[in-house]
Amino acid sequence: MTSSLRACEAPTDGPVRTCVGCRRKDAREALVRLVVDRAPLDGTLRVVVDERRSLPGRGAWVHPDPRCYELADKRRAVGRALRITSAVEHVWQDNAGRA
Ligand SMILES: [Zn+2]
Repeated sequence: MTSSLRACEAPTDGPVRTCVGCRRKDAREALVRLVVDRAPLDGTLRVVVDERRSLPGRGAWVHPDPRCYELADKRRAVGRALRITSAVEHVWQDNAGRA
């Protein structure tokens, strides 16, 4: 997983977002965007990775780093950032790990 090394570098010029895990600001390109998606069949809310960073609605940004996922998970920061209070499937961990 080489992407975690890149995520630790200093922010570059351009759009900057704050990681919901470590709370550090970083270049938009260095972060993964997470959005809430409602399952079409049963309406279950789940958090998914917005790979194109183009889905509508509120997004949460996190480094593609397991430590940031863990921090975000502990603080329930993703749910707060996305304004969801109910439990969600954390499919985003799997998706982002593969990205
Ligand atoms: Zn982070």
